[in-house]
Amino acid sequence: MKRRPLHTRHRPSRDSDRLIWLAQGLTDSGSRLEDAWWEGELSALIEKLLRGGDEDALNQALDRLHETNPRAYDELADMIEAGCEINRGDGVGRLVIALPVLAWSRYSIATRSLPAATLDALRAQLHGHVLAAGAKVAFADYLFSPDQMPQGYGDTHALAEDLWQAAAAGKDLKVDARHLPESQSFVSDVRYLLACVEVPAGQPVFRWNEPDGSREAAELAWTNQGGALLQGLLTGCTLQALLPDAYFAAWRKADRETRGFALKSAAAYLQTLFSIPASHIHAVAAPYFDRFLEEWRVGFSVGDDPQVVHGVTWPLMEQDEEQADIAAQIEALLKEAGVIDVRILDTRMPLEYCDDCGAPLFPNADGENIHTELPEDMQDTPAHLH
Ligand SMILES: [Zn+2]
Repeated sequence: MKRRPLHTRHRPSRDSDRLIWLAQGLTDSGSRLEDAWWEGELSALIEKLLRGGDEDALNQALDRLHETNPRAYDELADMIEAGCEINRGDGVGRLVIALPVLAWSRYSIATRSLPAATLDALRAQLHGHVLAAGAKVAFADYLFSPDQMPQGYGDTHALAEDLWQAAAAGKDLKVDARHLPESQSFVSDVRYLLACVEVPAGQPVFRWNEPDGSREAAELAWTNQGGALLQGLLTGCTLQALLPDAYFAAWRKADRETRGFALKSAAAYLQTLFSIPASHIHAVAAPYFDRFLEEWRVGFSVGDDPQVVHGVTWPLMEQDEEQADIAAQIEALLKEAGVIDVRILDTRMPLEYCDDCGAPLFPNADGENIHTELPEDMQDTPAHLH
């Protein structure tokens, strides 16, 4: 389960008490018949809260269960996510899916509206490789940055409702880009297409639900064919298209995959920017602590200059608990990318950010926390500069 910040600000409400009671009941249930009752009650209450915009009760219940009953927390989080991405009725099931693409560029990575012809071409690739035979798909006609994705369960549910309606009407959803927030600029980032898949009730959703399909074959075909279409939308970027999946599952997968992708991109980016081989890049990785280990950060320098010119963060996900394993993964990925000099610090670095721009500080070889800075003649590139 993805880690999330704690939200509790208010006194627990009656709704959050009932959510907790239902989630604990579901966890202790002894049969699928009893499960179905708990789940029915839970999903009705979750739906009421999502429609009423009362996200606080959901977050309060999650926060309390996170501390007291991790299994019930997982059950409740699953049910809330289902309430945000799944819609049933009129003899059909509708699922919001995300199509993540990892990208890096020395220039900026676009966010943009997508013309109908592009959506039709993407639709053909989805039908060809990713979706089951009877599925229909409606897109949101925009390539989103993480900053532009819905924030919180209420917003996610609101966008999902628009997508469900578009799918029911057999149309794509027009996204008004004027209402979207600005995107921060990073060397390496994720872009998302969002869509709604509609299938007749009880029918398969994805190609890998069919006897002759598999996730591996779908991923390979989508990465190549879908990736080629996405490449046309993201000029000047190096891409890796990930397998489309249910909204939250795809989002978590992208969060996980983006870490290794960012490290490898950093090596490629610095080689291009400084016109040097990867063997001239030096990397220093260190664990960063607040109360607990929060993330790893990797600082990069080039040639003989000790200045930290670029940095990559490796946020912790709950499954990654072993500090030594993360260090080994970071080192292996950088070595694969041709970086020979990878130093792992065992210093507990403080989780510090720049006071002016909020950019994370990165480790240098002496175990100091440093603001990344490019040489003066290169400062027109996307990085945290001021
Ligand atoms: Zn700064």
